[in-house]
Amino acid sequence: MAASFLVEPERKVEVLGEYDVVVVGGGPAGMTAALAAGRAGKSVLLIERYGFLGGAGTAAGLSTFCGLHANVGGEHRQVVNGLCDDILDRLQFMNGLNPPHLSVAQRIQAQAYDISAYKIAGDQLMLEANVTLLYHAFAVGVTKKSDDEIESVIVETKSGRRAVVGNMFIDCSGDGDLAAWMNCPFEVGDGAGNMLYPTTMFRINSVDSEKAGRAWEILPKLMDEAEQRGVRFPRKKPILRPQRDPIEWRANMTQVSNKDGTAVSGIDAWQLTSGEIEGRKQCWDFFKFIQENLPGFEKSYIVEIAPQLGIRETRRILSRHMLSKEEILGCVDFEDTIGVNGWPVEAHVSGDVIFLWQEKERGFNQLPYRMLLPNRVSNLLSAGRCAGMTHEGQSSARVTGSCFVMGQAAGTAAAMALSANMSPGEINISALQERLEANGVYLGRSW
Ligand SMILES: Cc1cc2nc3c(=O)[nH]c(=O)nc-3n(C[C@H](O)[C@H](O)[C@H](O)COP(=O)(O)OP(=O)(O)OC[C@H]3O[C@@H](n4cnc5c(N)ncnc54)[C@H](O)[C@@H]3O)c2cc1C
Repeated sequence: MAASFLVEPERKVEVLGEYDVVVVGGGPAGMTAALAAGRAGKSVLLIERYGFLGGAGTAAGLSTFCGLHANVGGEHRQVVNGLCDDILDRLQFMNGLNPPHLSVAQRIQAQAYDISAYKIAGDQLMLEANVTLLYHAFAVGVTKKSDDEIESVIVETKSGRRAVVGNMFIDCSGDGDLAAWMNCPFEVGDGAGNMLYPTTMFRINSVDSEKAGRAWEILPKLMDEAEQRGVRFPRKKPILRPQRDPIEWRANMTQVSNKDGTAVSGIDAWQLTSGEIEGRKQCWDFFKFIQENLPGFEKSYIVEIAPQLGIRETRRILSRHMLSKEEILGCVDFEDTIGVNGWPVEAHVSGDVIFLWQEKERGFNQLPYRMLLPNRVSNLLSAGRCAGMTHEGQSSARVTGSCFVMGQAAGTAAAMALSANMSPGEINISALQERLEANGVYLGRSW
C-alpha cells in the first residue's frame, strides 16, 4: 500500500529544561557519557524511554558484560577501566556480580551480573553525579539552531510533548536517532541488506544445578542429534549458563528473522512487533526442548522473557573514522586512542554465530576518538553501538565494554568542549587522553 500522509497542526512545545549536556539513551554508552559529564561539573539530562538504565543490558535481558577483558597472549586481563570500575564495584557491593568466567570457546572472559542490581546501581551512580534522569521519555525529534547545530531534543512523555534545550548532545540511542534526525549520513547492515540478527533473551529458574552440571557443554550435541531427527532450531551456538545463584540460568539462543529470512530491523515498527511475537515463541520452544532433554531442568520454568527483543545493530553513523574488522583483528593503534576493545568479531548471521579472533598476541585494538564524531553536526557526539564502525567492526566493538569506553570519552569530551567554548571536533586530544587516564581509563599504550 502506498504511504499516505496527513499534516499535523503546528503547535507550541513547552521547554522542559535547559542543560549543558543532553544524553539520549541510558544504555552502557549513555550511562558512562552522562556520568563523565556530570562528574566534570556540567548540568546533564539523561533521557531514557524506559523506567531504568542499562539499555540492552537490562531491557534485552543480557546479564553478561562482554568486552571488559582481553586475551593478552594467553593471559586474561581486564582492559576496560575508569567509570566501568565504579559500576562493577557497586554491583559487587550489592552482591550482584559473578567473577569473570571463560566464554566463547574458552578463549575470552565475560562477567555475569544481576539485572535488578544493575538497574539500582545505575540510578545511584547517576544521582551521586548530579545527573538529572528523565525516564519514560521517548525522544522523537530535534529542533535546530542551524543546519549543523542542534537546539533541542523533542520528547514524548506522559506529561505531554516537551523540548529539552542543550548546548551539547550525545546520541547514545543505539539507533543513531539524533544523528538521523539531523540528516547525518549513516549505514545500515552490510550494504546488501543484512543486519546482525536479533535475539530474545530469557532466564530459567528452579534448576537443579547439581544435576545440570556443565549443561552448556551438552546442549549443542543434543541439538545436533535432534536436528538429525528433523527438529529445526533458529540458530546454532546456544549460550546457556548459570547466574550467580545457579538455581537460575540465562539463555541466549533465539534468532529472530522476518518471514523472508532477513533480520528483524530495530528501526521498523511492524518488524519489531512481529519480532517480539516470534522471539517469545522461540523462547517457549527452546525452553520445552531444554526441559525435556537436559537433566536438572525437569522442574524449571521461565522466570523472565526480556522486556524487549535484543537489537544488535541498526544505524551506524558515518563518522570521522569508521572502525573496521581489519583494525580489530590486526589490534591496531590510533593516535587519538580513548581506550581499548578486546572482544572478537561476533557476527550473528542467518542460522549461526561466527567468531573471528584477533591475529596479534596483544589481543586488543585501540578505539579512536574520531569514531565518536559524526561527520556534519558541530554539537553532537555519538557513542555506543551506533558510533562510527563498519558493519563487521560493529560486530565486535558493540559489546558493553567498548560502549563504556566510548561513553566515558564522549561525556568527558563534551564537558571539555563546553569549558573551552569549542566543538568536540576541535578539542585538544592529548588533554582529553590525560583526563581519561586521570579518571582510570586504560588507553592501551603499554602492555
Ligand atoms: C540479544 C543481545 C545479546 C547481547 N549479549 C551481550 C553480552 O552478553 N554481553 C555484552 O557485553 N554485550 C552483549 N550485547 C551487545 C550489547 O549489549 C549492546 O550492543 C550494548 O548494550 C549497546 O550499548 P548502547 O549503549 O550503545 O545501546 P543500548 O544498550 O541499545 O541502549 C540504548 C538505550 O537508549 C534507549 N533509547 C533508544 N532510543 C531512544 C529514544 N528515541 N528515546 C529515548 N531513549 C531511547 C533505549 O531504551 C536503551 O536504553 C548483546 C546484544 C543483544 C541485542
